[in-house]
Amino acid sequence: MRYGNTKKILVTGGAGFLGSHLCERLLDQGHEVLCVDNFFTGTRRNVAHLLGEPRFELMRHDVTFPLYVEVDEIYNLACPASPVHYQFDPVQTAKTSVIGAINMLGLAKRLKAKVFQASTSEVYGDPEVHPQPEAYWGRVNPIGYRSCYDEGKRCAETLFFDYHRQHGIPIKVARIFNTYGPRMHPNDGRVVSNLVLQALRNEDITLYGDGSQTRSFCYVDDLIEGFLRLMETDATVTGPINIGNPGEFTIRQLAELVVELTGSRSEMVFRPLPPDDPRQRRPDITQARAVLDWEPTIPLREGLRKTIAYFEKSLG
Ligand code: NAD
Ligand code: UDP
Ligand code: UDP
Repeated sequence: MRYGNTKKILVTGGAGFLGSHLCERLLDQGHEVLCVDNFFTGTRRNVAHLLGEPRFELMRHDVTFPLYVEVDEIYNLACPASPVHYQFDPVQTAKTSVIGAINMLGLAKRLKAKVFQASTSEVYGDPEVHPQPEAYWGRVNPIGYRSCYDEGKRCAETLFFDYHRQHGIPIKVARIFNTYGPRMHPNDGRVVSNLVLQALRNEDITLYGDGSQTRSFCYVDDLIEGFLRLMETDATVTGPINIGNPGEFTIRQLAELVVELTGSRSEMVFRPLPPDDPRQRRPDITQARAVLDWEPTIPLREGLRKTIAYFEKSLG
């Protein structure tokens, strides 16, 4: 099945924001890509430019059902990622994280394949340690509105490490921090897409709470480079490893930058803070620097320019 360094690689959630960029990079490296997606939040449009490539295959499938295919490596990204989407059908979100992980690990076990898990900074919950190192166990509400996602992803990590210890599966677990860039879903309510679209339309810019909560935003190209480096590490490296940009901004600072870069006439308005909204978030990327020789290279201002250009074009 393998010729030279060319591999057949499965990307679940491949028609989503991060997945579509990952598929693109893997094709650029000469690999064959099997993109599996149920199109809950992803779209064929995100991968339309790849459909003419003979090494690319798109398959409609829900990862909560078993999947029997032959591949060399698996990237498991399938899961709605923004609060609006993962809270739409919380039971399905938990199933996607947990049963999806079991199915992908079962597939990896049968194929003896390496498997990557797109975990999240949400495993740290509303943290009392700042910035968050991988060794921090987190502070997560098990019964709240974010729990279907947070606890689903935590259980998926548990399954990855148990399959690794019990069955010797090579695993790579990445804890992804807030990421932005072209092909973010326009209606997923995430802060970068919301603020950019509001600014471009000269609509009110919605700050939840007083806008003093912080996030650290990583541009998508930097993140995908981190994924590829993690997948290439030797078998002793399992993660979990933080991948994100340590540059920390308040949401109000982000809004000011978006207004400046778009030249918008929008005004800022304040809305109630959603329940369990973390106050602060910033990755400690000491491990990623040491193990992957990786750190982000694209500053927020530059990444936002590219993201704004994408949304401007999509508005026509
Ligand atoms: P996205 O919503 O754009 O992509 C998720 C993809 O998974 C979509 O294409 C969706 O249709 C698909 N999907 C959902 N449920 C599925 C199912 N049951 N079967 C098959 N496909 C399914 O979100 P994204 O931002 O690209 O996130 C990708 C992954 O990265 C997710 O696992 C998410 O939890 C993780 N992550 C993302 C961020 C971020 O800031 N973008 C941060 C932390 C973690
Ligand atoms: N599985 C899959 N594809 C495969 C192999 C397994 O989707 O190629 C699924 C299978 O449905 C099973 C799950 O992965 O429910 C876990 O597999 P495992 O071998 O760990 O469990 P078992 O089959 O023994 O229940
Ligand atoms: N947020 C905001 N205005 C918006 C959308 C989000 O102020 O229009 C805030 C939100 O309350 C949170 C932060 O921005 O504090 C990041 O939200 P997002 O949903 O993007 O990511 P997450 O909370 O999952 O990190």
